[in-house]
Amino acid sequence: LALFGPAPGAPSCPHGPALLFVKTSQGKEEGRRFYACSACRDRKDCNFFQWEDEKVSETRLAAREEYNRNHQPSFTHRQNLDRYKNFVLLPLSKRRFCQECQQLLLPAEWEKHSDHQFLCNITTTQLKSPSQLLYPLENKKTNAQYLFTDRSCKFLLNLLIDLGFRRVLSVGTPRLHEMIQSKASQEEEFNVRSLLLDIDFRYSQFYTDDEFCHYNMFNHHFFGGEAARETCRKFLYEENGERVVMVADPPFGGLVEALASSFKKLMAMWRETEKEGHDNKEMPMFWIFPYFFESRILDFFPSFSMMDYQVDYDNHALYKHGKTGRRQSPVRIFTNLTPSTIVLPEEEGYRFCTVCQRYVSSGNQHCEICNSCTSKDGRQWKHCVLCKKCVKPSWFHCSNCNCCTLQKHSCEKTDVGCFVCGKAGHKRSACPSLS
Ligand code: SAH
Ligand code: ZN
Ligand code: ZN
Ligand code: ZN
Ligand code: ZN
Repeated sequence: LALFGPAPGAPSCPHGPALLFVKTSQGKEEGRRFYACSACRDRKDCNFFQWEDEKVSETRLAAREEYNRNHQPSFTHRQNLDRYKNFVLLPLSKRRFCQECQQLLLPAEWEKHSDHQFLCNITTTQLKSPSQLLYPLENKKTNAQYLFTDRSCKFLLNLLIDLGFRRVLSVGTPRLHEMIQSKASQEEEFNVRSLLLDIDFRYSQFYTDDEFCHYNMFNHHFFGGEAARETCRKFLYEENGERVVMVADPPFGGLVEALASSFKKLMAMWRETEKEGHDNKEMPMFWIFPYFFESRILDFFPSFSMMDYQVDYDNHALYKHGKTGRRQSPVRIFTNLTPSTIVLPEEEGYRFCTVCQRYVSSGNQHCEICNSCTSKDGRQWKHCVLCKKCVKPSWFHCSNCNCCTLQKHSCEKTDVGCFVCGKAGHKRSACPSLS
């Protein structure tokens, strides 16, 4: 499946403009192009489908619009704000949260939810950490909500503060947003602000419209229309020299080109807030994504580099920090900031390589031949003279394939590069990066 990305005049599903796709085989387009939902890669979550060249009747268009309207959240953000105001006025004993509907309940609504599981005595602290109250939406193909561990979240926030940023555009990072919000409400001298852009509308129960925008990062769609867009634009305007940084932690399901296209639009929004136009500068950005997408990300953002820091998650068994014998997280930070300014914690084994001018993980040895610290996964890599580069320690050089690969592999040649790592010799399903 290949993606043409956001197309002008694309039809819309409840998640905003659909994306244009085409089936490919051996790198060649095959068959008709079609539109499908940008946000849900599982047909069960959204079954929108339309051929690119399909004629859609007026009746069907009208029915579709009606369908899209009916498939918006049952409360608007405004209504949720009013409900929140009433909720905090309630005594503790009357503060309930319905776990089935994932919703704060007002006493008049208890009846309707009487056979649902609920939590009682919702404290102010709980209201300030919605990511603990809401269950993570883990369905891989749509939300893939993997929450930062406290370690990773604190590291990120301290890094941003040390770099002098005062505003954080949190794109799909509810936990980072929450840490900033709760510090801001508790510590007088803490002067960092955050705006959360996320498709998870449950968060609108806890944040004002200056703090949360319902947003789809695969098609740059603001569900709140022009007003929400304006909120974002205002936030990006660097008043009083308060510098802005964007932090995004998207689902890893691919669609790198769709994400890149949206992020470029957010960058353009930032650039246009300044009358002098920020010249040729880019909005500072952190894109959190697995290391095996490095070449794909660099295709779209040549100014980015990958940091060795391992980002890890509470609710993801595989994506955890190493050291304790658990598997190492493959998730890294990609940034357009100068690598040497990204200081990684020495107490976790990271050290500064003076040649590479960046912090690297403890196992990452500087290769004299490549003249670079070449490990991507934290383990020490070995140099292959035939490939003229460093490879994973578990790989060996196959003379049939004429490259280094896993010991167990079938020597099949495919002409096109792999979708994940871009290299020839294997398909996405057999990509050694994924194993
Ligand atoms: N590590 C982050 C969460 C990352 S999980 C943290 O702890 O803060 C991915 C996030 O992206 C989730 O919050 C999910 O709701 C959001 N998301 C998933 N699909 C999205 C889309 N199409 N548009 C915007 N946000 C999306
Ligand atoms: Zn080095
Ligand atoms: Zn090398
Ligand atoms: Zn080799
Ligand atoms: Zn081979």
